[in-house]
Amino acid sequence: MNHNPTEKDLWFLPLGGTGEIGMNVNLYGHNNQWLMIDCGVTFNVPLDRDQDEAPAVTRHNMVTADISFIANRRDRLCGIVLTHAHEDHLGAVVSQWEQLQCPIYTTAFTAEVLRRKAHRGEIPVELPIRIVETGSIIDIGPFTIEWIPTTHSIPDANAILISTPVACVLHTGDWKIDANPVVGKGFNKKLFKQLASKNITAMMCDSTNANRAGHSLSEKDCEQGLGTLISKAKGRVVVTCFASNIGRLITLAKIAKASNRYLCLLGPALENMVSIAKRTGFWPEELKITPFRHIGYLPKHEVLIVATGSQGEPRAGLYKLALNTHRDCDLDAKDLVIFSSIVIPGNEKSVKRLTDLLKEREITVVESASCEQTIHASGHPNEGDLTQLFNWVKPKCIVPVHGEPKHLLACSQIGKATGIKYQLVGLNGDLYSLAPSFSIRRKLISAPRIAI
Ligand SMILES: [Zn+2]
Ligand SMILES: [Zn+2]
Repeated sequence: MNHNPTEKDLWFLPLGGTGEIGMNVNLYGHNNQWLMIDCGVTFNVPLDRDQDEAPAVTRHNMVTADISFIANRRDRLCGIVLTHAHEDHLGAVVSQWEQLQCPIYTTAFTAEVLRRKAHRGEIPVELPIRIVETGSIIDIGPFTIEWIPTTHSIPDANAILISTPVACVLHTGDWKIDANPVVGKGFNKKLFKQLASKNITAMMCDSTNANRAGHSLSEKDCEQGLGTLISKAKGRVVVTCFASNIGRLITLAKIAKASNRYLCLLGPALENMVSIAKRTGFWPEELKITPFRHIGYLPKHEVLIVATGSQGEPRAGLYKLALNTHRDCDLDAKDLVIFSSIVIPGNEKSVKRLTDLLKEREITVVESASCEQTIHASGHPNEGDLTQLFNWVKPKCIVPVHGEPKHLLACSQIGKATGIKYQLVGLNGDLYSLAPSFSIRRKLISAPRIAI
């Protein structure tokens, strides 16, 4: 086997994201052409996680996959498709642009996130982004690509159906089955049931939560828990969550309105994401936001702050509030800080440092992991969601991606238990053959990570 797929081949070559959570960079090869799906970043987790005194900032350095394999055959890279706007899926497009230089296809929300990123850098870049409608079918080189809407923790997430004359595969992107994602439409199972008639060869599937039993929670489930906590609070409430979770922000804006609190955003990432949601039609017009600079003039019990920094990032808004160094706001004892988020593995110590700072000042801290109420919902499928999707789509083969080895293994076992005949479990740098037959060539390329 050489490194050029023929017209009889369909290959899958993950450069990042398979064997880890983050940094998704995937290649598909057919008829001497390549297609990239997603190009993301991840946190650089220090090898020695026990080094307590390592400066916090090193934990938040970003890395991405070494893409020299495709950069060396750039004339055969026919396009990049982006499934959604999370950093682990598009965060490296701008920094790798010199090496990529090909058309980028994605839907409107994701396109706007990327366009703004490209304009923010030291040297603004004008990217050739082609905005597609969800549901569109477009030929990119020898690949026919269809965007199928899913539900996740960001608007406008899509699964990608890749059809070639030799095989048809479903690249799920990040997803869960959410009947009420708060923003956008609910999960449309009919679209996935229809795929069964297409004889899907393989499904590259999000494995993040494959070792969690049952079904994933709905984004809507957070409304009651957050509403209860906020309605009981007497002073200021600060909620920290991921800036791109527009559904969560809409929920908080509704709670603010219902509890007569002014909603203020702390952190440019939040302001940017809400502005993109407004521009692309995902933000309800009636939900108003009060400029943060007004906060000093507002009664404490009439304030709901949403802040960045749920991972303990030292430059983020919440860290400044914890240190009491923010010029417009000083929290008091008995104020409430809610972590409507999870701790990303590797960030445990920086989050602990942040919560310790808050608790030292007698600020009440509520974290999702130890809270009886539902105040966070993951965007990824549990065992129950995976079983349902496998039963609906009925692919011949499951290829677990978006997970550490234990997650990939759990996903493949669910596939097996569902009656899917083949499972291919590999890692970044392995070459998966999906046509003419199933096989994995291990370690075709080494898959190192590079700093951004
Ligand atoms: Zn995602
Ligand atoms: Zn992801």
